[in-house]
Amino acid sequence: MKPIPLEKVENLIVDMDGVLWRGDQPLPGLGRFFETMRRLGMRFILATNNASKSGDEYLAKLEKFGVQVSLDEILTSPQATAAYLARHAPQARVFVIGEPGLAAELRARGLGVVNDAPERATHVVVGWDRTLTYDKLAEACLLIRRGAAFIGTNPDVTYPSERGIVPGNGATLAALRAATGVEPIIIGKPQPEMMVQAMARMGGTSENTAVVGDRLDTDILGGQNAGLTTILVLTGVTSPEEAYNGAIRSDYVFRDIGEIADALQRARGR
Ligand SMILES: [Mg+2]
Repeated sequence: MKPIPLEKVENLIVDMDGVLWRGDQPLPGLGRFFETMRRLGMRFILATNNASKSGDEYLAKLEKFGVQVSLDEILTSPQATAAYLARHAPQARVFVIGEPGLAAELRARGLGVVNDAPERATHVVVGWDRTLTYDKLAEACLLIRRGAAFIGTNPDVTYPSERGIVPGNGATLAALRAATGVEPIIIGKPQPEMMVQAMARMGGTSENTAVVGDRLDTDILGGQNAGLTTILVLTGVTSPEEAYNGAIRSDYVFRDIGEIADALQRARGR
């Protein structure tokens, strides 16, 4: 697949952690990046696998950095999971492993959450859960073995916490996969579902949409899986060495989002 030239890019699907900020530190060029997209009339969706924050919490974080976006410019893996189920199984009765935000997203889409009566569940949805217990795993295991559909919000096996690397949702999925022999349907990157939803929201196509991210194995591979042009920034987890010599190669590589803003500006000649 041939990457599209930057002057053709009208829609961006942008990862947040390691792209817009690192922890509580905004990354270089943050304000300029959003100003440039607005000035050029570009559309964007901020799309993240991270299930620990709601859309509103991301709005608040961006506002703290002086950036205004709207709720429909944010897509989290719980939101994408709820949208997927609402489309493919609107009658689903769901047993949820996850934090309260995940069940809230499912209910907001009119889906039934049946954790109080798990025997009624048709689907098991698994998201990152810092209150995970053996009981929850056992219930999910029994349901999946009985034929309930098995869905994971995102496949990240680790999570970078303040204390260091801790288990992410992919680790929980691995436990259930081991205990059931069933592969989950995964919604987040690098599966294409979240990218496809983001593109649909913007009315974009592979001819005018690109993905921006800091991880080769999720953002960039996810973009490739969705047939999209990819832009890597080096402010997150990928070193220049990995960017230029790794097995997964991004179509474009920039030092940071400030450089992307400058390149978009130059490409449009404005
Ligand atoms: Mg990231």
